[in-house]
Amino acid sequence: MATVALAGGVGAARFLRGVVRAVPPADLTVISNTGDDRLFYGVHVSPDLDIVTYTLAGQIDRTKGYGLAGDGFRVVDALADLGHETWFRLGDRDLATALHRSVRLAEGVGLAEITDQVRRTFGLEVTILPMTEDPAPTYVELEGGRRAHFEEYLARDGAPDDVSGVDLSAARAARPAPGVIDAIAQADQVLVCPSNPVVSIGPILAVQGVREALERCRAPIVGVSPIIGGAPVKGPADRLLRGIGVEVSARGVAGHYAGLFDGFVIDERDAEQKAEVEALGLACRSTETLMRTPEIAEALAREVLALAEEIRARS
Ligand code: GDP
Ligand code: CA
Repeated sequence: MATVALAGGVGAARFLRGVVRAVPPADLTVISNTGDDRLFYGVHVSPDLDIVTYTLAGQIDRTKGYGLAGDGFRVVDALADLGHETWFRLGDRDLATALHRSVRLAEGVGLAEITDQVRRTFGLEVTILPMTEDPAPTYVELEGGRRAHFEEYLARDGAPDDVSGVDLSAARAARPAPGVIDAIAQADQVLVCPSNPVVSIGPILAVQGVREALERCRAPIVGVSPIIGGAPVKGPADRLLRGIGVEVSARGVAGHYAGLFDGFVIDERDAEQKAEVEALGLACRSTETLMRTPEIAEALAREVLALAEEIRARS
């Protein structure tokens, strides 16, 4: 059974760690957000691609949720001594991944092929695809007409300000990476990870032809809420959702995705919103979605797959 997952970074990686325990990894294709990609120190960093790769390889720095466990920081420290801004603290081995990506890109190799080679090097059977090979940076619009690249807003500034809008125009102009549309067309089920709906899933859906491919595909599309009890587990999803006029709740996110999704899994703490989610036309289940352990992530993945199965059986 071919499974496609739409993924951002940390929330996605936690969930995918459970999915690969519930489906054969070789049957899973992850379509990853590249809206956060940016050059740092002259090298092409793909935060979400790398978070998913490192997490599935069991090499993620668990306390930070990004970067490699046990990595050193000699290069960024030396760059700081040389007068560089080093708010993006790339570890030494993490930098090697980005440097490798940059070298290959300069040689004319596509980002999809590079990503595939990296995941093989990390011993993964899961296929990981960037949403696009075109530059597709996400910008957030702040009060007073200021704009910032999403990583500048998040990693440099710590997401201190409310957001008045999100600029996905680069993603909208981007073509899907090789394999993306085919993977969706051939999917038996599409899972949407509990990632930031605005800046992680939003850019993927904005890439040319992706939303249409999802609308066309007959496979059930089932998501997981990144909002539990009216707040994100981590990160600025609350500011971003408010910035695009969506209520910060499981029900609000369900409404944002309604029309595209067939099913939505919400946290058991939000179980009272189930009827409202169903009223939006989505099949809904509530369960434990706070993925403190791989076992919880696996149980959640199985619940999502069971909901997909139920939707498939019905149609
Ligand atoms: P980023 O690209 O690293 O910001 O990561 P994502 O967009 O994939 O994930 C960020 C979202 O994941 C946030 O909105 C969090 O609320 C959500 N998230 C993180 N951990 C969990 C979890 O254990 N359960 C659920 N339901 N959501 C989570
Ligand atoms: Ca991200």
